[in-house]
Amino acid sequence: TGGLMQGKRGVIMGVANNRSIAWGIAKACADAGAEIALTWQGDALKKRVEPLAGEIGAFLAGDCDVTDMASIDAVFDAVEKHWGKIDFLVHAIAYSDKEELTGRYVDTTRENFLKSMDISVYSFTAVAQRADRIMNDGGSMVTLTYYGAEKVMPNYNVMGVAKAALEASVRYMAVDLGGRGIRVNAISAGPIKTLAASGIGDFRYILKWNEYNAPLKRNVSLEEVGRSGLYLLSDLSTGVTGEVHHCDSGYHSIGMKSVDAPDI
Ligand code: NAD
Repeated sequence: TGGLMQGKRGVIMGVANNRSIAWGIAKACADAGAEIALTWQGDALKKRVEPLAGEIGAFLAGDCDVTDMASIDAVFDAVEKHWGKIDFLVHAIAYSDKEELTGRYVDTTRENFLKSMDISVYSFTAVAQRADRIMNDGGSMVTLTYYGAEKVMPNYNVMGVAKAALEASVRYMAVDLGGRGIRVNAISAGPIKTLAASGIGDFRYILKWNEYNAPLKRNVSLEEVGRSGLYLLSDLSTGVTGEVHHCDSGYHSIGMKSVDAPDI
């Protein structure tokens, strides 16, 4: 992939540690020659993000809690001061109270519903708005979603409803920004063991289920999702927008449990 992202600069939001999907995409883009700006959420994560930024020579754009519009403004101001323009944006951020990522969706509280929608859905629109102002024509934006948006997955609950709204927002923004050649897409990643995923009830069972039943008979790696990100952010995908790209070992295509899947 050497040179594919040469001369491109972008903001990547959502690195918590070296298992974060945002980090997988950051590495793939940096390896392909991109210059990257990272944001983080809070001092505890800053300590983890700083050494990672060092590894890829990334610009530390600042602390950003996406529920605070002033902090979003501040990091995009910092990026504009540093570079002037950008070419891409990655949004790999989601949140729901852990207690509601188990049991029944119907029991979701209004408070957690609104919080989940704010952090997991609106935040992409809020950052896309700021990124649009400093993005070159022909830029690219990517967010992360999951199959629980399309079909019911156990325990995914309010996050499934949020991801459905996120996917719809991808299509609306693809239209809004398409006039300048800016593309907006989502990667629907198969399950990967990350900090956020550990909040989902029975996540290990979901990993096993996918491993046994996906067409490729295995789970996807962080590097594979990273390379899907690279594809959508690079000029390899200039004809692609408003798309939900599945990087999930093909799991989304099956209709039934595999006949030779072992019991879990
Ligand atoms: P992760 O825990 O590494 O990343 C989640 C990130 O969200 C963290 O960096 C966290 O700081 C950030 N975040 C949460 N609330 C925030 C807020 N208020 N302000 C700013 N940042 C905030 O986990 P991940 O699995 O890499 O998650 C990244 C994205 O990928 C999420 O949208 C997630 O839903 C999606 N996804 C994950 C999987 C999986 O199996 N891991 C599968 C499909 C989609």
